Amino acid sequence: MDKSLEFTPPHRCYIDGAWVESDKGLRFSSIDPATGDILAEVPDLGALETQSAISAAARALSDWRSRTASERGLFLRRFGELLGDHKESLAQLLTREQGKPLLESRGEVSYAQSFLFWFAEEGARLYGDIIPSHTIDARLLVMKQAVGVCALITPWNFPYAMITRKLGAALAAGCTAVVKPAEQTPLCALALARLGEEAGIPRGVFNVVTGDAQAIGKTLMSSDIVRKVSFTGSTDVGKLLISQSAATVKKLSLELGGHAPFIVCEDADLDEAVSGAILSKFRNSGQTCVCANRFYIHESLYDSFAERFAEKISELNVGNGLLPNTHLGPLIDLAAVEKSERHVCDARDKGAKVLFGGSRDKAGGNFFQPTLLGEVEDSMQILQEETFGPIAPLVRFSSDEEVLRRANSTPYGLAAYFYSRDVGRVFQFADDLDYGMVIANSGVSSNACAPFGGVKHSGYGREGSKYGILEYVDIKYLLVGGIGS
Ligand code: NAP
Repeated sequence: MDKSLEFTPPHRCYIDGAWVESDKGLRFSSIDPATGDILAEVPDLGALETQSAISAAARALSDWRSRTASERGLFLRRFGELLGDHKESLAQLLTREQGKPLLESRGEVSYAQSFLFWFAEEGARLYGDIIPSHTIDARLLVMKQAVGVCALITPWNFPYAMITRKLGAALAAGCTAVVKPAEQTPLCALALARLGEEAGIPRGVFNVVTGDAQAIGKTLMSSDIVRKVSFTGSTDVGKLLISQSAATVKKLSLELGGHAPFIVCEDADLDEAVSGAILSKFRNSGQTCVCANRFYIHESLYDSFAERFAEKISELNVGNGLLPNTHLGPLIDLAAVEKSERHVCDARDKGAKVLFGGSRDKAGGNFFQPTLLGEVEDSMQILQEETFGPIAPLVRFSSDEEVLRRANSTPYGLAAYFYSRDVGRVFQFADDLDYGMVIANSGVSSNACAPFGGVKHSGYGREGSKYGILEYVDIKYLLVGGIGS
């Protein structure tokens, strides 16, 4: 077997500190989206095994949360260091299983590591409060306590980082966890479990179950032991989880879909804006929830922006992410290719111009050309929903009021980008864009110290930063009376 795939014992998941097969011997395949090759088979788990993972996490809870924050932090730091020690193999595995170019995979390993390091420190800063009392014979205190057993459900587009961003915060706060990774990227999740084990994280604290999303999801959602669910994925599944959480009144964090506007104002630095547009649109072949999905360009700059953007796009190489000089790997599967194709055809049929690309790439199977569309209108599908593919639609606008109205006219509210040199306009746009993350004069924004999350149908809750750990604690109020009596 390829060295990069040797992280875990074959056909096994990680439950209660042991590597276990499915009770019924069921398996499914992890497939390389670039070649269609089967990389490995992993357990296809269901309700029973999920129940054992929940029980293991429950048994591990009281020991784990009674340890000091600095002791938990040492485990997380060691875990993070191991990601660094295995960076190249982890990156190779990620490229094989998810498709992103190796350079981006190395970046994701470091990004994933940064959350473990960040929360290794942040656990020790979970301060409480002493509140000036309403009466002289009482003292009022506030404590923050671990929520308990958490379910962490993650997507395939950042299979390491989406786990560590949740798991780092949960474990630092004193919670234990059951992780359910996406069907397309189980090996990346199991590789993390292997490194967590090597870091000495006690059995049951961190469990990984791969398999049937509906059966695992229902078991996690209906369990009264699971007190918190953190989910990153589509808005449709997020809404389902909200309804499923009602019966057991769980705490939820939801990082859902986006539909990011990228606005280039009349006073923007054009070269900077083009560089930012390339980064924001084509990273991970357009498969990030914060990818720019709609480009609003001021009419005075539209033609020159389109020309320079097309020129830069023409320099992007499509191919297997393992090859040097690849900028765009495959999309995750054929359904993703078909969605990109549908968005291009719909736009073209309604009058948009294809300025670059526009079809499947000659590299085959799941590859799609980086694409630039001009003269795009609000009625076209691509301006109404997330593409999750490498297509940049250009739209003209003529005033700030108009572009803010159009940027906000969506149910989504994750990330919004704009370029302007006018400090007054920067703060006005920051105020007026209805998004959880507003990014001025840059095409990237994610890092461990900043709060990540959306508003409206993009979800609620924040990850990373000092706010991320608060999602994994309950506030407990303590009144001590009878003082001085
Ligand atoms: P998805 O279909 O919602 O899947 C996400 C996760 O949920 C996977 O682990 C999936 O398992 C699981 N799942 C599916 N149905 C479930 C159910 N009934 N109960 C419990 N879990 C269930 O999303 P995706 O297509 O993988 O990811 C793309 C979406 O995620 C995009 O909309 C993107 O914008 C969003 N996203 C958001 C963020 C953010 O931070 N806001 C970050 C990344 C991605 P299976 O894979 O086994 O079906």
